[in-house]
Amino acid sequence: MAGFHLVTDLDGTWLPAPGQRGQLRDLENALLARPDVVLTFATGRTFTSALEAMDRWSLRPPHHLITDVGTAIFHRTPEGVWDEDQTWASRVTAAWDHLAAERLLKAGLPDSVCPQPGVVPIRRLALQALIGRGDAATGRELERACTATGLSADILASHNLYFDVLPSGIHKGSAMTFLQASLELPRPVVGCGDSANDLGLLEASDYPVVMLGGLGDQEAPAELIRRAHRTDVPGPRGIHRALVALGLLEEGPHDH
Ligand SMILES: [Mg+2]
Repeated sequence: MAGFHLVTDLDGTWLPAPGQRGQLRDLENALLARPDVVLTFATGRTFTSALEAMDRWSLRPPHHLITDVGTAIFHRTPEGVWDEDQTWASRVTAAWDHLAAERLLKAGLPDSVCPQPGVVPIRRLALQALIGRGDAATGRELERACTATGLSADILASHNLYFDVLPSGIHKGSAMTFLQASLELPRPVVGCGDSANDLGLLEASDYPVVMLGGLGDQEAPAELIRRAHRTDVPGPRGIHRALVALGLLEEGPHDH
């Protein structure tokens, strides 16, 4: 079996629900036995929050970490230290009008959204809808507010609640594509996710894997839904079974 690059979302995807920890350990061990596999976490969480999740669930650390919906990339050094990718940081910074973003935050936000409490994002805004507001209408209000404050940005809605305001063209998929090319990582790329902020990643992956119950047919382009592998069980077991079905991993101990 040849190597591959596994790029996975955390929440609703890699992180185990209660009772799934053993399944995550099985998946981690199967990947550990394959030194030709590169593992990357791609999350909407901040760097700090991603580290907290890795600690809380005792995750095996990945080789690379994409945080903040793609606006930052970190590499794990052989000493186990996280090093931010400065080339990507410069590229994203150049695409982010932080003064316009400040103006939007200070005076321009529509009443329907507020910053996510306790979140300190990198080179993006992390907003959330106030209770009872329509999702599509809120997105349009936010778009108008960005235009009014001169902020040229992409707005990514997810879970009918969160709105990420991102530098144009920056998302989990463009971060993964940069990472893939700059380090000449193995292919195929398997991208796993469950929600709208994973769309860029799924689109840019050779094998998109959508979690059971994630991303409805209305939330993703038909072409992507057609070529995506949908897991038949949730969580790490679902990813494990998808990798087996794709011919990339041997069958797990519970498949026999
Ligand atoms: Mg998710």
